Amino acid sequence: EAKRAGRARYVLFEPSMRSDVSASVALENDLRQALPNGEIFVQYQPVVHLPGNTVAGIEALARWRHPQRGLVSPADFIPLAEACGLIDAVGQFVLHQACRTFELLQHQLGPVAPPVVAVNLSRAQLRQPRLVADIQEALRDTGMSPHQLVLEVTESLAAQDATVQHTLREIRALGVGLSLDDFGTGYSSLSCLHELPVNTVKIDRSFVSQASDSEYHRVLIEATLRMAHTLGLGTVAEGIETPEQARLMASLGCAEGQGYLFAKPMDVAPLVMWIQSGPHPL
Ligand code: C2E
Ligand code: MG
Ligand code: MG
Ligand code: MG
Repeated sequence: EAKRAGRARYVLFEPSMRSDVSASVALENDLRQALPNGEIFVQYQPVVHLPGNTVAGIEALARWRHPQRGLVSPADFIPLAEACGLIDAVGQFVLHQACRTFELLQHQLGPVAPPVVAVNLSRAQLRQPRLVADIQEALRDTGMSPHQLVLEVTESLAAQDATVQHTLREIRALGVGLSLDDFGTGYSSLSCLHELPVNTVKIDRSFVSQASDSEYHRVLIEATLRMAHTLGLGTVAEGIETPEQARLMASLGCAEGQGYLFAKPMDVAPLVMWIQSGPHPL
């Protein structure tokens, strides 16, 4: 025990790490101010039907414009928000913002408005008892119908434990959609798909990007799509960057696609223009 504690102390106070620790403490303090200061905002990335490329939905992605550092990636600040107890506030903000934007788009775009908006949920949010009430509140405040909202959870998270599974079932019972994000990167995979209360599978970008060069990745994508179709689940290919990838995913029977080829995450005004100028054939 003493030896382990000693080692841990050594690691913690190693000079190269001290700056890391104080840097992350500083960032944490900045993050506490970020919401009240209006530095957190949301961008939206379209999801399109394959192969026609008409709008199938949008995904809300959180952004933090740090006054000194510039844009901080959600891959960095979402884990930080989880670690310092800010994820509920950030998550609630993104959810409400996404629902309000969705309603705004219905008014501005009418028949070509995206039919659904997707919002990412993290581990800590799924363990928060208030989550289901927050979702109901966001729907009520905006007058959205539950089937117009989709929540994205990662594979490792969804498979994790009974509490999380129970919450996921409650969300589905509201009529809200559930998407399995980054599919293929977790440990569970195909055999678990039928046990999870999800109605869409998003195939991870790492598979999509290697599909044309790697037989292994292509075979796994084919198996995933076959399983998803058998179970009646929707399918989305993430991170499509080339017309070849779009054509391949369409030819393999993937229903929807998302990626820089179609559009990057955008503010609302460019998103409206992008949708109005569509459909976007390759
Ligand atoms: P994700 O949910 O899998 O979102 C897709 C990520 O891939 C986004 O990165 C998006 O900008 C990026 N992406 C989309 N198309 C392409 C492409 O063609 N090529 C490449 N290279 N990248 C592409 P982003 O916005 O940096 O978000 C990273 C992750 O952070 C998200 O992965 C999600 O897990 C998490 N995240 C973002 N916003 C939120 C949020 O509001 N709440 C929670 N809990 N997590 C969030
Ligand atoms: Mg996502
Ligand atoms: Mg994803
Ligand atoms: Mg991903």
